[in-house]
Amino acid sequence: MRDWAVDCGATSYAHWFQPMGAGGVRHGQAACVQTSMLSFGPDGRPSYEFSADDLLTGETDGSSYPNGGMRATHTAGGYLAVDPLSPPFVLGDVMFIPAAFIAYTGQALDEKTPLHRSAEALSDQGTRLLNLLGVECTGIVANIGLEQEIFLVPRDAYYTRPDLQFVGRTLIGKAPARGQEMSDHYMAPLTSATAALACMQAIQEECFKLGIPLKTRHREVAPNQYEFAPLFGDCRVQTDQNLLVMQIIEETAAKYNLAALLHEKPFAGVNGSGKHNNWSFATVEGLQLLNPKQVLKTTGNPDLFPAIMAAVVRGVDLYGDLLRLSIASPGNGFRLGAMEAPPAVMWTYLGSSLTEYLESYVAGEDVEGYSPTKMRLPFGVKSLRPMDIPSEDRNRTSPLPYGGNRFEFRAAGSSQNVSMINTVLNTITAEGMKVIADRVEAGEDLKAVTQDLLKTHMKCVFNGDGYDPAWPDKAVELGIFRIDSGVDAVAELTADKNIKLFGEMGVLNEEECEARKNVMFDHYVGIVEMEVLCLKDMIQQHILPSCEASDSCDVETLQRLQKAATTLVEKAVEVEEAASPEEAAKLAHTLRFGTMEHVRALCDETEASCKADLWTMATYKDLLFLDTHTHLREELAFGAATSDSNSPGFGSF
Ligand code: ADP
Ligand code: MG
Repeated sequence: MRDWAVDCGATSYAHWFQPMGAGGVRHGQAACVQTSMLSFGPDGRPSYEFSADDLLTGETDGSSYPNGGMRATHTAGGYLAVDPLSPPFVLGDVMFIPAAFIAYTGQALDEKTPLHRSAEALSDQGTRLLNLLGVECTGIVANIGLEQEIFLVPRDAYYTRPDLQFVGRTLIGKAPARGQEMSDHYMAPLTSATAALACMQAIQEECFKLGIPLKTRHREVAPNQYEFAPLFGDCRVQTDQNLLVMQIIEETAAKYNLAALLHEKPFAGVNGSGKHNNWSFATVEGLQLLNPKQVLKTTGNPDLFPAIMAAVVRGVDLYGDLLRLSIASPGNGFRLGAMEAPPAVMWTYLGSSLTEYLESYVAGEDVEGYSPTKMRLPFGVKSLRPMDIPSEDRNRTSPLPYGGNRFEFRAAGSSQNVSMINTVLNTITAEGMKVIADRVEAGEDLKAVTQDLLKTHMKCVFNGDGYDPAWPDKAVELGIFRIDSGVDAVAELTADKNIKLFGEMGVLNEEECEARKNVMFDHYVGIVEMEVLCLKDMIQQHILPSCEASDSCDVETLQRLQKAATTLVEKAVEVEEAASPEEAAKLAHTLRFGTMEHVRALCDETEASCKADLWTMATYKDLLFLDTHTHLREELAFGAATSDSNSPGFGSF
């Protein structure tokens, strides 16, 4: 490894790990200490040294990272173990070694350790079940593919916005005259008329250099919104690679005079960004367990696929609160429930043919093994070839639709580390498999167990329109989890049934759940505090002076703005003084969706009446319409070209 790294230009190495509470505002969410491999012998001769011990373990200060009270300054030990599943990589002069991070007490201090534990639980319980049924299986791997949405905005405009710089979203901003009326951004070409295409090509190239298979790139529905998706793979590796993808996106954008926004909701009134978490699991031998046709063909067992579905559906029904919690990033609170992301109700869509099949299965009708059908789709044109397509339509309104060979957790937030999301998916499915295996082992018939589980839990399957305003209430009547506030969802981490689940599956013990919950509350509070203080500064340092210079506000409005700034500070102090992290997070949530929204409305009114050249911050018009900024093309030619003339795609300019 040393020789390889030195060959690639490395002179240092670092264990690269994922502290909790890092998502949302920080560039690059991983932590590391970089140590030089350069050593000097007794004779003064230099050489590169990197021992097995250097590779296998590291040590760092556990109390310096968010730990939810598990570490203190006088009990700070934290240890790093190399993650042999995730490939090391060289970036710049450093060899980065993916690692897991635990405390002196063995408690997980990071995002990755629980993900590993959950992957092993799924593998253990799944293997046990399959072996009981006589299916060859030496292990199970959970695979994910993450569709990453982002915004790219002009960097000069970004530098005029303290809110984008500090908290990644606009805290104010009058809606521009043009929005998403024409659905025009999605259909426009990834054009060389702006820096976006060259930037995306360069991002892809950087990823390929690190062995990250970033396959797909396209525009997304909002102005200046774009998406990348890789080829799917092991959830532990993909999680690491997604963190790198996000880092590379931000770094590369800067080279193209762009700023990349990873936040879930950078702009009010404009679609936000998600990170669809496509998730499936397969045996080490290569059998895709969510692919009914393959399962039937390989095993010849018509009851296996329904049993696997029962394990997942049971998990969604019993642990919808955990699924909701896993996507409760501070930014995601602005997306869920709007018509751009599913509501905060946790149900799954299976499609009508699979649902009908499972219903007949439960009813004990004489059904054969499930194998989805295809249908022929004609274009009505002789020269266009008819296609054979899945007979099932696509549903984009469920947070977790099944798509023929995978579940797509669509409600994930764009800035998230997806570890907790997949920790939950793996753990709830592992428990489902365990329940089935236990009962089969005790002598029950697989079919009867599956029928029983499906009968109880299929209430969380809904194939209709999830954006129908009547649905969330109906869901609650059916007993499906609906948790509107992310803060309330976080509190669920220590519900008795959830502590029991994580404990029995060996993923998190009670103390770890409690600590993780507090880290999530503190993270939320920290972000809202920054938002509040940033908004106050923007009012006092930008908005008030602009209004005064432009002479566009009456005295009363100026006084209201001044009062708003004071109120924000007072409310921030209340949050600060709250009795517990949970209380603080609840107050912060109310402040964010109450007072801050009112203050914003006032600011946006003043922006509308202020003389344009006296408004000192970039407007939504400046930020959102790259396609109309033709000057960027010249900037790119003279700026990015000289700084990085090797960028792929540059030739097109
Ligand atoms: P769409 O936007 O149409 O849903 P994309 O091609 O943008 O599809 O993204 C789909 C993602 O799902 C890709 O990352 C792909 O590799 C991944 N994927 C495909 N099949 C599976 C599977 N069986 N398990 C996990 N991920 C998958
Ligand atoms: Mg996509």
